[in-house]
Amino acid sequence: MSISLSSDFATAVPEMAVSWEAAPVAEPELLVLNEPLARELGLDPAWLRADGLPLLVGGGRTGVAQAYAGHQFGGYSPRLGDGRALLLGELTDAGGRLRDLHLKGSGRTPFARGGDGLAAIGPMLREYVVSEAMHALGIPTTRSLAVVATGAVVQRDEPLAGAVLARVAASHLRVGSFQYARNTGDADLLRRLADHAIARHHPGSTYPELFEHVVAAQADLVARWMLVGFIHGVMNTDNMTISGETIDYGPCAFMEAYDPATRYSSIDHRGRYAFGNQPIIAEWNLARLAEALLPLFDDDQDKAVAMAMETLGTFPERFERAWIDGLGRKLGVSGDVKPLLKDLLALLQENHVDFTSFFRLLSQAARGDAEPARSLFLDLAGIDAWIARWCELGPDADAMDRVNPVYVPRNHLVEEALAAGADGDLGPVHRLLDAITRPFEERPGLEYFAAPAPQDFSATYRTF
Ligand code: AMP
Ligand code: MG
Ligand code: MG
Repeated sequence: MSISLSSDFATAVPEMAVSWEAAPVAEPELLVLNEPLARELGLDPAWLRADGLPLLVGGGRTGVAQAYAGHQFGGYSPRLGDGRALLLGELTDAGGRLRDLHLKGSGRTPFARGGDGLAAIGPMLREYVVSEAMHALGIPTTRSLAVVATGAVVQRDEPLAGAVLARVAASHLRVGSFQYARNTGDADLLRRLADHAIARHHPGSTYPELFEHVVAAQADLVARWMLVGFIHGVMNTDNMTISGETIDYGPCAFMEAYDPATRYSSIDHRGRYAFGNQPIIAEWNLARLAEALLPLFDDDQDKAVAMAMETLGTFPERFERAWIDGLGRKLGVSGDVKPLLKDLLALLQENHVDFTSFFRLLSQAARGDAEPARSLFLDLAGIDAWIARWCELGPDADAMDRVNPVYVPRNHLVEEALAAGADGDLGPVHRLLDAITRPFEERPGLEYFAAPAPQDFSATYRTF
């Protein structure tokens, strides 16, 4: 089978594309392959497992390391870029859509700075598992095609086995890509980048319309994250896409007990990227995108700023609507649910209630058995009164079960599966994948994957 990849990005903005090859891998070992995704891409899974395996680690193809800038924890870096990643090219999938085929952990590039260009098996499996869970939950995301062990030793706190993740996305254009182009001062480069983004994602749009699309997509995305308790963990502007797909699964985690202040990342000291801060951070990042795009909006920069502000000003209401409507769906009711929600969130927080379990168990209350949900609370009078009010709205239990997952990649389950995977036992990864890729379908024998973490685990859990 011969694979033809295009190089639209490199052609559109050669200044932002450094031709590069992945580090050679003498003996690639396939750890996990996403067969449904491979078929969606028009790639034969049997071929990928055999003769096609080199493609999943670069296979001597010349790709490009993409340049981008970014605000990391609020501080601007003018030159980040793919330090350990490579865009192999764009692939037309079986549905005729153009998708980036991208590698992560494929060796140092000119953007590597002090980094080694490598990735360890654990973090690449983590991205695979969590991104596929997100996809199954109906949340836009980059997809994971495969994780391949390289045989290289990756020195972290201890020596670890190396791996390459093959990743697929509608594009890898980021807010930081536009910051980079703007920062060069080259107005033509900025225009070509925006034209490329428009052709790729919103054909026919004007530049202000492109910005509107991104604002709408990100408001919707962050609401969707929060409706399943997802904490991205590192919402730097280089980790926010133009396509509205979730990207960069480094320190992400699923919230257990509901609390807007929840953060798990060990590098997020001040909680900048805590669960409840995600909408305001997304809006802040979009303001950075607007700044980068200003020269394209109007020759009159006062007018351009006014246009940007007006669109940006729609973010809070867009987010709020998606969040409130989504919570209404989780509760299986329609109409004005705001007062009910406010009281519920307060009860969940005060009682340290597991976010995922609560919503899933609540459908049983709609079927007449409130005990499973109420048993999660210490304040029984409080939750009983709330359930009584909610029942008056006539909740639809079946509709609830279609939006409230039984299985999410809970932190302790992910850690357990990754530890085994890094030791060469992929069984736990496959069992976890089986649960989380059909998240709404409760199945006998999978109780372990629905249960919250032991108390002592959650209290001390930290991601990178
Ligand atoms: P991230 O925090 O994952 O969004 O990455 C921020 C920047 O650091 C990007 O430019 C990455 O390419 C770069 N980077 C992260 N890890 C490595 C590594 N091991 N080697 C080289 N560059 C890296
Ligand atoms: Mg990143
Ligand atoms: Mg990362």
